[in-house]
Amino acid sequence: MFKPEKFAGQKACVLGLGRSGREAARLLARRGFSVLVSEETQPEHIPDFPAGVEVETGGISERVFACGFIIKSPGIFPQHPVLQEARKRKIPIFSELEMAIAFMPKNICILAVSGTNGKTTTTSLLGAILQDYVTEKKLPRRVFVSGNIGRPVAEVTDQIRTKDFLVLEVSSYQLEDSTFFRPKVACLLNITPDHLDHHGGMENYIRAKARLFKNQRANDFAVLNGGNALCVELAAEIKAKLSAFSTQASHSLKTDVFYDGDEIIFSAGYRLRPPKLKGIHNVENAMAAALCALAVGVDADAVQDMFDRFEPMEHRIEPCDKVRGIRFINDSKATNIDSTLTALRAFEKKQNIWLILGGRDKGASYAALAPEITPRCKGILTIGESMDKIARELKTPVPQVRCTTLEQAVSYALAHGHEGDIVLLSPACSSFDQFKDFEERGRIFKELVAKMKQLEI
Ligand code: ADP
Repeated sequence: MFKPEKFAGQKACVLGLGRSGREAARLLARRGFSVLVSEETQPEHIPDFPAGVEVETGGISERVFACGFIIKSPGIFPQHPVLQEARKRKIPIFSELEMAIAFMPKNICILAVSGTNGKTTTTSLLGAILQDYVTEKKLPRRVFVSGNIGRPVAEVTDQIRTKDFLVLEVSSYQLEDSTFFRPKVACLLNITPDHLDHHGGMENYIRAKARLFKNQRANDFAVLNGGNALCVELAAEIKAKLSAFSTQASHSLKTDVFYDGDEIIFSAGYRLRPPKLKGIHNVENAMAAALCALAVGVDADAVQDMFDRFEPMEHRIEPCDKVRGIRFINDSKATNIDSTLTALRAFEKKQNIWLILGGRDKGASYAALAPEITPRCKGILTIGESMDKIARELKTPVPQVRCTTLEQAVSYALAHGHEGDIVLLSPACSSFDQFKDFEERGRIFKELVAKMKQLEI
């Protein structure tokens, strides 16, 4: 456990100069530590730091081992040689998450959301429900949404006061490095294979996710997907009060929440209409967010109120403009095959979708897409580095058109599409071949569509 007073006067090392490393260094400096930030690559831009923070880039030096403790950025491979050496020399290693929480008041209410998919959506929805609740009820508590969602915990640490709600999106990387993390409410949405290279196999990935519940006690709450086999396996280890949800008819864990295809039904007696988000996966996200909110005392009416107002999130099956009766949908966040499958399943089998597919390949085969593409799509518009691989692997009667760029794909769809068609950007690939990140890819898509709409008038 990271106890700041135990390390008073010692130098801190922050490994990794990403966003969480930067905020970790700033927080430690604000709390009076001298800090060495060590980054093995040579970033284009080095952020400003207060006095007391030294930065080394382009390599990790021996100076790291002169520090009293290490804060590890989540992206650093757990078996990285510098960490192995630090362990050998008995230098304590902590996550940014644990370090930041150690500086917060003790009686805050932490709600943590993890899972392979759906974290950002569920975390945002839960944060919105809680925010609405405290505002409506005029409670003297505030809500902070932080973590993997793009706002490191170290960035909000100084603002947190007693009794505040801290809604955290936590990744398996952050969990892997956390030994004492104890959320009041811990929610696991699903586990499917992902990041196996980082964790060194599926078993380690599952163990990392299990850490979400490890330190919980009987008066804490756990929320679990009862329809996901790997989540169900973890149920036996959970000491907290367990609530399970499932949208599937058959599941091995006793569930407290079901879906009748229209409403979410709670065994406690109430029914809620899910938010207007596409796809059964979003019903699961809504069930999870509702269970977490109800666990900390929010009433069902308040949850319904936010469900009714919650808008689709940017880049996640996000409706954009309609041009000449053709609907454009931005699902740029679909950076792997599973996500694109999820997106496709959210649409009817009407063979009216132009699917924009491709980018930087991530190694998995595109063949798995065929069964969902064939009944729904009228054209596959490929872009980016993976065009050849998609052509080789994806066997379906739906024609494939090599468009190379996003701009050409949008123009092609507009030129060949008809009223009632849908153009879905759900690339199943990362964006780094042609864009800075998936956000930029999505924004450019929306700009292209907006431009086409203007031309139409
Ligand atoms: P994360 O933060 O875990 O990456 P997001 O909420 O950003 O998750 O959603 C990313 C993509 O994952 C979505 O576009 C969708 O394709 C898929 N997804 C979201 N929620 C779920 C879920 N509950 N189950 C399966 N897939 C999901």
